[in-house]
Amino acid sequence: MFNGVDKTKKGSQQLIKETNIRRIFILVSQNDGISRAELANHTKLSPTPISSLADELISAGLVKEAGTGNIPTSGRKPIMLKINPGGGCIVAADLQETGFNIGIFDLNCRLLNEYFVNLTDYDHLGSSLTESISKSIKQSNYKEKQLMGICIGAPGIIDRKNRKVISSTILPIEKNNNFYGELTEAYPDAKIELINESSLSAYTEKEYGRATAGINNLIYIDIHTGIGAGILINGMIYEGSDAIAGEFGHISVDLNGPLCKCGSRGCLETLASIPALIENIEGETGFPTQIINKGNIDEKFSIVAKEYRENNKFAAEVNIMARYIAYGINNAINLINPGAVVIGGKAVELGEKFLGEILRTLSTIGLNGNKETKVILSDFKGNPVTAGGAKYIFNSLF
Ligand SMILES: [Zn+2]
Repeated sequence: MFNGVDKTKKGSQQLIKETNIRRIFILVSQNDGISRAELANHTKLSPTPISSLADELISAGLVKEAGTGNIPTSGRKPIMLKINPGGGCIVAADLQETGFNIGIFDLNCRLLNEYFVNLTDYDHLGSSLTESISKSIKQSNYKEKQLMGICIGAPGIIDRKNRKVISSTILPIEKNNNFYGELTEAYPDAKIELINESSLSAYTEKEYGRATAGINNLIYIDIHTGIGAGILINGMIYEGSDAIAGEFGHISVDLNGPLCKCGSRGCLETLASIPALIENIEGETGFPTQIINKGNIDEKFSIVAKEYRENNKFAAEVNIMARYIAYGINNAINLINPGAVVIGGKAVELGEKFLGEILRTLSTIGLNGNKETKVILSDFKGNPVTAGGAKYIFNSLF
């Protein structure tokens, strides 16, 4: 897979920063199998510089020649140029409470390897990330100078200016944690981004979702312990002025509802998150012994979801949750008018019946135009945070 890079030449990262080289690389990535003549047409550059730019990309291992294309007239068939997937790599990490998932991707953004790294002390996040990135690069037979970029996805509010996680209800991270600084020191030429995890999941839906690919105005609702949302507007991640856009869990749907930790009442997080569902079920039905004895909320929820899907158990409680979510979605549609709302996270386990209840509620409320928004469950297989992170880096290299 790995073609090797001439050590006398510039590193892939430096090369891609040069404007004309970048233009050629973008065109090749967008037009699989483009010829040098077509590149000249697109760029209005003459054939000689095009050839030397293409040659430079080929010798750096970023682009490869791949057979000949067809032309309608007789004459020499043009040689097709394609991205060389082994010519560079991107690493993406998904920060979680007890550690992080780390995935390495080739230049076609194909996942090569992903694994979980346990972290006992979040103060060591920077060094642990750096070591794991270096290990991933070696294991996939790349060289460090082929690392094009790193994306770190985190659950929490991110200060994009100072590149820090400023608050997170999930990560035991201190405000003074300088993991970003450690990464830029270790990989000074790589593009490094720190982005909210739900925003990256939204990006994955735009790029890879079966029903949502190419939808540029999209909301991804991540229902888990909390309820977060990733927002894409015109294909770009929207974070708001203070990076708190997407705090979907703190949309209130009941003025007289339970008090939320944010100070408001009736927030979705207090009424329709997974802990809220479990609490309702425990309070109202009395859990069967085998469930109540399980301490882990994820395990409890998986049992509830299975019973709901297969035996329609706990339908009353799940339907209440679905209706609250529907009201939240209706509010979001009124505010942003997205082309799609994708429900993701652990709640996807509740399946189509849960979605059906959301859709049924939506059909009875809201403005007529709201019915045009596609509301679906995410069907992405794999980790949407690392996949979205790698694709985001790739798309923003140019
Ligand atoms: Zn709240």
